[in-house]
Amino acid sequence: MAVLRSVQGGSPGVVDGFEIAYVTLDGAEARPTPSRRHPDAQLLSAFSGRLPGHLAGALLELRDPQPVWEAFRHNPQIGCPRCDARHPGGPVFRIFPHHRYVCTRHRYWIGPPDINRPGPFLDDLPEIVKAQRRHLRLLRRHGWAATYDAVLTAFMICGHHWDEREEMISLGISLQRAIWEQRVHVLIPSDTEHQAFSASRLFAAIYPEAIKIAEVLADPFWRQLAAGDDTQLRLFVVEIGRRIGDPSYQPRAEGDVIAHWIEQDCWRPPSPPLTTFAAATGHRRPGHLAKAVRAASLDRHKRATDWFIVSRRCGNIILHHRTVHPVVVREWSVQMEKYSGAIWWSQRTQHRFRETTERIGFRGLRYA
Ligand SMILES: [Zn+2]
Repeated sequence: MAVLRSVQGGSPGVVDGFEIAYVTLDGAEARPTPSRRHPDAQLLSAFSGRLPGHLAGALLELRDPQPVWEAFRHNPQIGCPRCDARHPGGPVFRIFPHHRYVCTRHRYWIGPPDINRPGPFLDDLPEIVKAQRRHLRLLRRHGWAATYDAVLTAFMICGHHWDEREEMISLGISLQRAIWEQRVHVLIPSDTEHQAFSASRLFAAIYPEAIKIAEVLADPFWRQLAAGDDTQLRLFVVEIGRRIGDPSYQPRAEGDVIAHWIEQDCWRPPSPPLTTFAAATGHRRPGHLAKAVRAASLDRHKRATDWFIVSRRCGNIILHHRTVHPVVVREWSVQMEKYSGAIWWSQRTQHRFRETTERIGFRGLRYA
């Protein structure tokens, strides 16, 4: 007799989180298959007692036509603990869209996929919850592709600003860093690093400022100005300077991730995710979900924790996190042997600003 072994029940109330359902029948061969399994909507409906249409509202794989997989993260992850507590069927893994970082209803950080620990409660950091609402407005205005690219680029910009040597940054960015450090102390209190640390929480610390920057990077109007002549660029420089907390900001040829974006990226299409859930290997059978955190990820997490405790160089951890890889190494980036080389490359220009930077010097450049 056929028996339903494992189903994460779909809930029509779920809007942004989608659970993954698999039906395994006794007697069916549960071997790894060369292609992904396709759950049968009618069969699942018969077992669960829910209408296929209701199930498709919560289960991406049952949708016909298929969803835009690029708009979703490729890794299943745990979500808001209070949302997941409604489901009695064991651990819940969700495929979130790229724009979901916070459960605004319960004020929990969800973050990018990381070590799959429940995110922190954000009652002491309401600006992070507000940033999620601004992020959703950005999505409605510009679509998922431009928003995805802009938010990751903004994370990379903040990562560089956080990682820069103290003597190389302006007073404005130094103040910004002090705010991020304060948030880190709330999210990862001292002496609890081994339990509380995750790279995802560092993304939470910079999230409000990243969204503020992303609002400019996603906007075709500002992108056109950035790619335009000197007069147009001046307008962009004033606006981006205000957004990064450095009103005196001027692009320079070295050590400037924004200048690199102006020269190389602003006039090109948004960079897509490296893979999707539907295309990723390792998600082919239910057993893979139980191993959503692989040994390699655990090892990376341990090294990042040690690095954080010793150096507190949070920017470096953000820049090395796989979340920002698609904008650090873009399709048109110069190929570097090591990832650290790609990070170095992502903050320099080849032609633009170079002559002026060399003539006036690193700190003396004024573009206006
Ligand atoms: Zn929730």
